[in-house]
Amino acid sequence: MADEITDVTGLIGDTPVVRLAALEPEGSGVELYGKVEARNPGGSVKDRIALAMVLAAEKEGRIAPGRTTIVEATSGNTGIGLAFVAAARGYELVICLPQGMSRERETLLRLFGARVEVIESMGGMTEAVEAARSLADGDDAWMPDQFANPANPAVHRRTTGPELLRQLDGRIDVLVAGIGTGGTVTGTGHALKAHDASTLVVGVEPASSAVLSGGQAGPHRIQGIGAGFVPPVLDRRVVDEIVAVSDDAAIDTAWLVSRRCGVLAGLSCGAAVAAAVEVAQREESRGKRIVVILPDSGERYASLPFFQPR
Ligand code: PMP
Repeated sequence: MADEITDVTGLIGDTPVVRLAALEPEGSGVELYGKVEARNPGGSVKDRIALAMVLAAEKEGRIAPGRTTIVEATSGNTGIGLAFVAAARGYELVICLPQGMSRERETLLRLFGARVEVIESMGGMTEAVEAARSLADGDDAWMPDQFANPANPAVHRRTTGPELLRQLDGRIDVLVAGIGTGGTVTGTGHALKAHDASTLVVGVEPASSAVLSGGQAGPHRIQGIGAGFVPPVLDRRVVDEIVAVSDDAAIDTAWLVSRRCGVLAGLSCGAAVAAAVEVAQREESRGKRIVVILPDSGERYASLPFFQPR
């Protein structure tokens, strides 16, 4: 019906779930499912928070189209989400991108009309966040600050979690999600645990920057997770366990998901699925239903030299 048609932001959410049967350990009775967040209009899970943070700030009267410039630090996907939301709602946008992010991401941002500042980085997000903070220091600028903005976990609690419960008939034994800001795992984990307190929530981080497991921040290749610090948005009480995954395992598993399941998987999908398969292989996981958040598509990384298929 024409009167139900909205602008592009109305296409965010309600993403499909697929079964990843080829990766279920044989004879384990485990069911493995992936939520395909690449089906959001900007191509990633971060479209949800881009819209939610903008709407929350509009509601509080902090920003208005034509008046406010939005400034954010992001490794790419939040920027792409903000870029199409800003274009659709009439905002100027500046993105501080840590160096070394894939070319596709930078080009996409510019195609939506965003200004991109590439910031020198040790591999994490710290320098880009600082740069955005100083650029956003003015009356006409606003920084959503995804790492600290409560609208980030809230939208996952309100949408991602309930969608999963509906799609899987209310039975989810294990949730596995990578941790960048921690918004996905916190919000979705809260929603699932409110429904069934026994749901196991597993967070995933890069092994070479395993800050949440008590290690040191360091360079890694799994774009979107492993910020290099403990993000304020992350509620550690919701996360039962952190699994650290190596860059190589993330890359190999991204290829495996693409080749064996036909779902083109990004790097952090590979990390999350590698962790999910590890959980699936445990004795106590027999007969369990495991859901993995698949944050974006492998297409977003197609030009990276280390992602070229072998
Ligand atoms: N994977 C990718 C590709 C991402 O862009 C992000 C967001 N930074 C995540 C995983 C992690 O999501 P969150 O920020 O909600 O922890």
